[in-house]
Amino acid sequence: MASHFVSSKAQRLNQGNRVVMLSTFRAMVIGDSGTYDVQQFGGRWRCNCKWGVTCAHRGPCSHVLAVQAATPENQAAVAPLAAVLNAGLAKMQADAQARLAADKAELEALFKIA
Ligand SMILES: [Zn+2]
Repeated sequence: MASHFVSSKAQRLNQGNRVVMLSTFRAMVIGDSGTYDVQQFGGRWRCNCKWGVTCAHRGPCSHVLAVQAATPENQAAVAPLAAVLNAGLAKMQADAQARLAADKAELEALFKIA
């Protein structure tokens, strides 16, 4: 169970629009002393802040609680930017895979001739 201090800090992070959902399983939280990477693995959220790395077994940090309470309305204004960047990355990956497939086809054609 999260302490009152941790949950009120999480509430303040949400009210300050400091959560950016990058995907369903990954978020960035702009904390008081750094920006943290919060990711979900096997149904559990993990954060790379000091508490998240060393004390997560004692309960979630404020960043994880803020991500769990994130709504489209309380996310950072840069959330649309994150969506654009994610779409751009997905397109770059698709383009790279298409180039790879084209190169492979070209190589196979060369070997057939030889
Ligand atoms: Zn954290």
